[in-house]
Amino acid sequence: MKPYHSELILDGIILNANESPVEPPKKVIDEIKKAASTIEFNRYPDMDENDLDLAIAKHYGIEKENVTVGVGSDELLDVMFRATLEVGDTVLGFSPSFSMYQVFTELVGAKYIPIYGDENYIFHVEDMIHAIKEYNPKLVLICTPNNPTGQYLSKADVRRIIESTNALVALDLAYIDFAKEDYAKIALEYDNVISFKTFSKALALPSIRLGYAISNKDNIDMLNAIKAPYSVTTFTQLAGIIAIENFNLYKEQIDFIKEERERIYHTLKDLGYKVYPSEANFLYVLMDDSKNDALLENKIYIRKFRSGVYRITIGKKEENDKLLEVLK
Ligand code: PMP
Repeated sequence: MKPYHSELILDGIILNANESPVEPPKKVIDEIKKAASTIEFNRYPDMDENDLDLAIAKHYGIEKENVTVGVGSDELLDVMFRATLEVGDTVLGFSPSFSMYQVFTELVGAKYIPIYGDENYIFHVEDMIHAIKEYNPKLVLICTPNNPTGQYLSKADVRRIIESTNALVALDLAYIDFAKEDYAKIALEYDNVISFKTFSKALALPSIRLGYAISNKDNIDMLNAIKAPYSVTTFTQLAGIIAIENFNLYKEQIDFIKEERERIYHTLKDLGYKVYPSEANFLYVLMDDSKNDALLENKIYIRKFRSGVYRITIGKKEENDKLLEVLK
């Protein structure tokens, strides 16, 4: 296997990793820095992450026993794959989607069956329901809004998939704060659903590596049984509490990203680019590689999947202006 790699770029306009273009609100940063000075560095973190789980539960109006956290949602996804799959099991997921799903599947010796979208990269719920009947999977992955295409499935559509199977359904909602509705709590209405969220995107904190899962107590206990003890650091737990308790302060940043996404989408469309509707903080774009060369000359870095296929993260206003100027 090739190691997962995303280039660390320190200079230029960085639109390749679906990060927030701005830091968290000042109050959040100030409080995190203050909290850091209270840490007893010679002690292990709270292994059960009590206060952080409680803060997340409060945010959703659910119980603490329905929440667990990990080192990014990456850790929790990895744990879920290892906890639920055996060699030879089948996993279904729409394609293209987050590349780690295939890696985690192959690591446990299971088989990943991609369900492709149509010629416009649009996924159809019926195709997934049909494939569930045909393949009898152990695990179904739904990334909504989908990385990299940006497509958002409504709560009703997600329900149709969940209700068509007894397999475990993983809802990866990494980008759902940029979409119409965050329906992470839907997991509590079923036995077989886990929602995954992250502090890396709308909460603008990929540096602290924090993700969480929401599900019924049995599924949460299953994840906790396999997760490495003490994986989430004391600093991360403190920072996470502060961020989620101040979620309302993020509204302006999130609204800005959504507005800019629409502006870039329409501008690129008017310029004749093939660009797809997105409810995330990025856009999926088909364009000639020479356009990317022009961006690179201007130190503008976007994500290239293969020749002609790109993903552009929404940046700051002036960064987006520069991007559009070059693409024009
Ligand atoms: N799910 C999706 C769809 C993602 O795009 C990412 C990050 N690129 C993750 C999960 C993992 O995020 P993190 O580990 O930073 O929480």
